[in-house]
Amino acid sequence: MDVQLPHALLFAGQPGVGKRELADALAARLLCEAPLKAHQPACGNCPSCLMFANGNHPDFRLLQPDAAAESEEETPVAEEGKKKASKQIRIQQIREVEDFFHVGGHRGGARVCIIDPAEAMNAITANALLKILEEPSASFYFIMISHRWRRLLPTLLSRSRRVMFGRPAEGQAKRWLAERKLAEHAKWLPFFGHAPLEVADAAKSGRLKALDALVADLLKPADPLAQAARWEALVKADSALPMEELVTTLQKWLFDLGRLAIGAPARYFPQAAMTQQAKRISLPALVQAQQQVGQLRAWSSHPLNTKLFLEDLCVRAFKPLKT
Ligand SMILES: [Zn+2]
Repeated sequence: MDVQLPHALLFAGQPGVGKRELADALAARLLCEAPLKAHQPACGNCPSCLMFANGNHPDFRLLQPDAAAESEEETPVAEEGKKKASKQIRIQQIREVEDFFHVGGHRGGARVCIIDPAEAMNAITANALLKILEEPSASFYFIMISHRWRRLLPTLLSRSRRVMFGRPAEGQAKRWLAERKLAEHAKWLPFFGHAPLEVADAAKSGRLKALDALVADLLKPADPLAQAARWEALVKADSALPMEELVTTLQKWLFDLGRLAIGAPARYFPQAAMTQQAKRISLPALVQAQQQVGQLRAWSSHPLNTKLFLEDLCVRAFKPLKT
């Protein structure tokens, strides 16, 4: 490649703003075997591009936690007794990259490794990676993705060139969604921190449908126990809403009610018809509910009993809504 590129790049920024997409495009470009000018993207047709698109390029490695790899394979059914997939990058994975680094490339061009996300490395794996980064190699490129780059080891930060990804402008994000026939979901942009790829992801996985149902329920709060039973189905269904997201959605709802109650604009649900609800609300009760739901959030990733947890959650969260 004719452009001088640092050998360790760190793409940093909030989720859903295109870090991984650019990393993939850059990896394809580095591996592409067509004669390209500096500004041209990968050709998409050469043997290298075809192998990359098929996920079997011998000079490319993707390093991610097993849990992430599993969810990409769209096999949500966890087999009984199966070991829980790791959310961390394992030391064995780094060792394999080390072998990949030391053995020459297969096609005589660049070799690329994407690490997604870099914060899935603990101190041991990050230090093992650092050892590889310390050895100079002309044709080897590491592209690390990070949603929380401040948590990375300082040595890792100093060894890589950081590229910050900001959130796109509102119009740009809406256009991007419209181009993918997702214009109707643009109302979810504030909820997802204005990150259009997060919205697209949630639409694809069916989570937006669940979130829509949740919002409808919150606008017309039912009896907390009946509500808990309905939400139990929601968090258990296929393409389900994880319990943690249900709880954070509730937190965002209560937060917006508080904003509206004091005359500030809603932050997460600007298009939901919450104004009437906000007018009826008692602020002390709201603050109490916010605190209690916040405390429950700590349990949300593994509640002892899903039904009891949801009942507790609904009783506490709905108290200010009913007054
Ligand atoms: Zn190509």
